[in-house]
Amino acid sequence: MMKRRQFLRVLLQGAVLVGCAEAPATTQIPLKGESIVPEVAAPQVVDVVVIGAGIAGVAAARMLSDAGYGVHIIEARDRVGGRIWSWSDWGAPVELGANWIHTADGNPIAKLVKQAGVATQFDPEEGEEAMIDLVAGGRRLSEAEVESWYDRIEQILDDVYDDAGDADDTQSVWDAIVAHPRYQKLDAEQRRFVDAVVVQVINDEYAASATALSWKYFNHGEEAYDGDDLFVVGGYDRIPAMLAEGVPLTLNTVVDRVQWNADGVMVWAGEQAWQARAVIVTVPLGVLQAGDMRFDPPLGDAYTWSINALAMGTLDRCVLQFDQVFWDEELTTISVIGDDSERWYQFIPLNNALGIPALAGFNAGAAADDLETYSDEELIAEMVAVLQQAFDTQEFAVVDAKIVRWKADPYARGSYSYVPVGGDFTARQVLSEPMHDVIFFAGEAYTTTDPATVHGAYQSGLDSADACIAYLRD
Ligand SMILES: Cc1cc2nc3c(=O)[nH]c(=O)nc-3n(C[C@H](O)[C@H](O)[C@H](O)COP(=O)(O)OP(=O)(O)OC[C@H]3O[C@@H](n4cnc5c(N)ncnc54)[C@H](O)[C@@H]3O)c2cc1C
Repeated sequence: MMKRRQFLRVLLQGAVLVGCAEAPATTQIPLKGESIVPEVAAPQVVDVVVIGAGIAGVAAARMLSDAGYGVHIIEARDRVGGRIWSWSDWGAPVELGANWIHTADGNPIAKLVKQAGVATQFDPEEGEEAMIDLVAGGRRLSEAEVESWYDRIEQILDDVYDDAGDADDTQSVWDAIVAHPRYQKLDAEQRRFVDAVVVQVINDEYAASATALSWKYFNHGEEAYDGDDLFVVGGYDRIPAMLAEGVPLTLNTVVDRVQWNADGVMVWAGEQAWQARAVIVTVPLGVLQAGDMRFDPPLGDAYTWSINALAMGTLDRCVLQFDQVFWDEELTTISVIGDDSERWYQFIPLNNALGIPALAGFNAGAAADDLETYSDEELIAEMVAVLQQAFDTQEFAVVDAKIVRWKADPYARGSYSYVPVGGDFTARQVLSEPMHDVIFFAGEAYTTTDPATVHGAYQSGLDSADACIAYLRD
């Protein structure tokens, strides 16, 4: 009987040239069902190729490099960091992707931040919050009112979390909330507030509306750490930059094909090729779902199923710089309840954090997907209109704007992953396992521990590198 490895080798007809001390000057690669691809220059030969220079990719590459393996990172963008993106055109690093270090006690990202000397502050969401009701003409709720609405939703959500195990996978988090006896007892006006606070809590955390999130699985994923969150103000991207230091890296290069057999891989970006014994794939789930990177032969059924059992949420920021601080200077969070409570639900002031008279406006879930279709001018006009209503003033001017649309970004295709209604958390487990010890996935979506976070992605990178090293040593 032919062994699996032999079978695959025959199947690929020597497509991957693992074990050659020196690659030939040109390589002709026969593909299944296709004629010979054009001749390419000699592929670079390394032990491991890492696709993507986000936190998972650079963590994996750092570990492999420190262990003495030849590693090369290939990154589509012109920068490292991926969904960590510190944008400094205004003189201080405005975070357009991740901004918080969640559960900082024991969190390795908190340690790296210290090591790199990157400044952090307390979580602005735990500071001075103004909750403003636009429907009531811009009335600012008292502290006691705000507390009471958060308490009510917390009581409901505690049960929703606790009972998730009994849910079936067709039920959404929203189904669970509206069926809760405490919610049932609320009158229409009370529901208006509770619904708005659901957005502040759920949409903000999961980048998806409660109607889209699987009740059964939405909060699955071991929480590795504890404690308060930290807000990064000194440039989050200095962490991936520090990890990537000295590791061979090619930027501005989009991998479009991974050709593999049981002995190794050939990673293609157009006609450029890298040959390696293994690949660590860290591209976001949305990129895999879109089929932007082809696997040849295709991934097995379990992997294909898993990729489609998860979804990518959207959390977008529209950051406006103004000619003045027209809000109370001490505020660290401004929450807004409008006609549509999912749109422009929160603004984080940057005057105290970064010394810039700016507000970062947030949209998440379906509202964010819709707003991504708006032009910059339309988005700015909508945000300004909300602020004029909230603060009952027209006496401010927009000086500059920075808008980010993560769903439309071809190298992210969303902000982070979640388990949708009908989806399945076990998909994360499948994707965290290496495929034939040759393809290793790493990143926020491909882990069962703290998915959708920077530290979850970082740890997943380390775990994949560790598994890869064990394979390379065999
Ligand atoms: C708006 C927003 C806010 C967030 N807030 C927080 C927060 O406060 N705290 C927190 O812990 N987490 C937060 N997250 C989540 C966190 O940013 C991610 O979980 C984490 O950064 C993902 O890291 P990664 O390495 O898995 O993926 P990425 O950072 O996306 O890295 C993948 C890399 O692959 C590259 N790539 C894609 N396609 C190709 C290709 N074909 N060829 C080559 N390269 C390719 C990408 O350009 C990217 O650099 C936020 C995310 C967003 C978008």
